[in-house]
Amino acid sequence: MVSKKKAAEMIDVMEELFPDAHCELNFKNEFELVLAVLLSAQTTDKSVNKLTATLFEKYKTPQDYLNVTLEELEQDIKTIGLYRSKAKNIQALCRLLLEEYNGVVPNTFEELVKLPGVGRKTANVVLSVGFDVPRIAVDTHVDRISKRLGFAKADDTVLDVEHKLMRLIKEERWSKSHHLMIFFGRYHCTAKNPKCETCPLFTSCKEGKRLIKKAK
Ligand code: SF4
Repeated sequence: MVSKKKAAEMIDVMEELFPDAHCELNFKNEFELVLAVLLSAQTTDKSVNKLTATLFEKYKTPQDYLNVTLEELEQDIKTIGLYRSKAKNIQALCRLLLEEYNGVVPNTFEELVKLPGVGRKTANVVLSVGFDVPRIAVDTHVDRISKRLGFAKADDTVLDVEHKLMRLIKEERWSKSHHLMIFFGRYHCTAKNPKCETCPLFTSCKEGKRLIKKAK
């Protein structure tokens, strides 16, 4: 495990590489944000943005999603993976929003994770991006980067990783660090063929040395 100082230095390097790291999903309000994050499970942000460009024109409120049949909603989102379960969750989520929250997305973790289709990661993204609450959402990129750079151990669960990152990184940097690790993982330290040869973190990364040795 790296020290807090070392972790901060590594995050600094990511910030130099990606000063503009941000949420790449398009949305206009917290309701659209929840739906975009829900839709992004096992799908790229690019595909979700392509879909929501038209979806969010047709459906603007929770009631709009309940005014159509499940089959119609499925047809409207069928370009992305898991569309059947996502359509079902969207309608259940909209129903609950109307019944319990007057159609407004709640802003606490405990309430968010009760919404259908909203797990820990989605709730953390919504809090951080939509409500400016410091959180670290651990997705596949954040998990991989944390393990490669020694922020967490290889066999740590997603929850372990989240807790370790929250201990290692100062709270005021949680949200930005989440985006930095996603950008770093998406565009530099990719799952396959990471750019180890030109990586500014190579000297402090055991995984990079192992990967290069393996490739030779
Ligand atoms: Fe990722 Fe390779 Fe850089 Fe390590 S050296 S952080 S594995 S790109």
